[in-house]
Amino acid sequence: MSISTEVARRRTFAIISHPDAGKTTLTEKLLLFAGAIQIAGSVKARKASRHASSDWMEIEKQRGISVASSVMQVEYRDTVINLLDTPGHQDFSEDTYRVLTAVDAALMVIDAANGVEPQTIRLLQVCRARNTPIITFVNKLDREVREPLDLLSEIESHLGMDAVPFAWPVGMGKSFGGVFDIRRGRMRVFKAGSDRLSDQHDEIIEGLDNPEIANRFGAAFTQARGEIDLIEGAAPPFDEAEFLAGRQTPVFFGSAINNFGVQEVLDALVDMAPPPGPRHALQREVRPDEPKFSGVVFKVQANMDPAHRDRVAFVRVCSGRFERGMRLKVARTGKETRPNNVVSFLSQRRELLEEAYAGDVIGIPNHGVLQLGDVLSEGENLQFTGLPFFAPELFQAVEVADPLRTKQLRTGLTQLGEEGAIQVFRPVAGGSLLLGAVGQLQFEVVAHRLKTEYGVTARMMPSRYSMARWITADEPRDLKKFMDANMQHIAYDVVEAPAFLIGSSAQLRVAQELYPNVQFHALREHG
Ligand code: GDP
Repeated sequence: MSISTEVARRRTFAIISHPDAGKTTLTEKLLLFAGAIQIAGSVKARKASRHASSDWMEIEKQRGISVASSVMQVEYRDTVINLLDTPGHQDFSEDTYRVLTAVDAALMVIDAANGVEPQTIRLLQVCRARNTPIITFVNKLDREVREPLDLLSEIESHLGMDAVPFAWPVGMGKSFGGVFDIRRGRMRVFKAGSDRLSDQHDEIIEGLDNPEIANRFGAAFTQARGEIDLIEGAAPPFDEAEFLAGRQTPVFFGSAINNFGVQEVLDALVDMAPPPGPRHALQREVRPDEPKFSGVVFKVQANMDPAHRDRVAFVRVCSGRFERGMRLKVARTGKETRPNNVVSFLSQRRELLEEAYAGDVIGIPNHGVLQLGDVLSEGENLQFTGLPFFAPELFQAVEVADPLRTKQLRTGLTQLGEEGAIQVFRPVAGGSLLLGAVGQLQFEVVAHRLKTEYGVTARMMPSRYSMARWITADEPRDLKKFMDANMQHIAYDVVEAPAFLIGSSAQLRVAQELYPNVQFHALREHG
């Protein structure tokens, strides 16, 4: 098959949700419906192990598993689906955000009882910043949940995009009768249980106004019918271009645990989610079906053996075709690498990864040669833009217990910072280095790794900061003026970008008012 045919049949996406909304369940069901039974089995196992492990040592044991299952590839209806895991829960960290830069679409799962929850909102901001198309699945309709109209408007206000229902629930909880397929004008009747692996044998009632529906579902039908009329009057019609531009999200309703509504979502992913598109590099736009290979490192994960500092770089293929053993150049260093022992992720095809195309992810083991944001190519010097670094929300000062090991501390933190495990800030005014994270676990991970990999016992101390903003200004002198006046609050990150560190959003507002020529960024893009 030609490169463009291979690219056209790829769909690369991530499922995002707040913990407990049903992401694991839906992932598993999607894989089951796609026929990837073995992969599906390991999804739950992974979550179970994650929960069982309360400390980092245990989590580390699981690292091997988590590398393998962080990308799942299945073939369904002649389409190659790459599903990228976004860790939630305790191991939530900046990695999650960066994974979203490697996908072409996202599937958002919402617990119908809770609506749009905080963690989902943060992930959505990343999708919004990149105009990633989002398909929405409202889960747990078999429970007493919130009114669907309410949920719809909440989705709209949080996403800042129009929600266009493709399905509409008839009743909920005990009276959940099923869902209307609005576009095809029919109703799929709800059946509890999880033994169905396709929707072929479901009971379908044709016609939204079929009297049979009214007879069987009474008040639930009347309400649902009225709501559909309301929506059809008020909501804009579905427009594919608007969806692809991230301005409209199609909404489905169902119950993942009951395998209900899963088939529609799987088919929507294949039919509606876009294949890999062009990517922006500083030099030029890179098309996915170009003959030459290029790829970008969006995640680096330390692997099994800490003594060897081996890491796996997750590379999203941006163009061309990857073959095992091919010679690749790292744009940042100009060095060559020849990935032979590519890490295999979970896949229906059992054999070692031999080739990959735009949209696929390859895992390259290395000893620190590859960093976040690095670009691999067949020689061309490319730098892709858009790998985000997020302003941390948690800060700790770090010092070394034994002053003789200060150098090791610096080396360790520099490397861990480059890997994206933590953000390291050096205050202009001197004093201890500051660590910034978006998840508490990041500190534990770093303390543990400093000890095992660099032989440094680090002392972490509370910090008075709770917020950081990278600062820029069109005129260098405006930036300098601001920095001089706020020396105590300025620190440089690993790439020497200055940041303003503060304890409250009130302080930020004051600074913004006093210095209108300075821009404060919650997100820094690599490159
Ligand atoms: P995650 O944290 O988002 O991965 O959520 P899980 O998939 O682990 O689900 C969280 C809980 O919700 C589990 O106890 C599931 O069994 C339950 N759950 C998932 N889907 C449904 C559903 O459709 N209906 C009901 N009633 N419970 C569900």
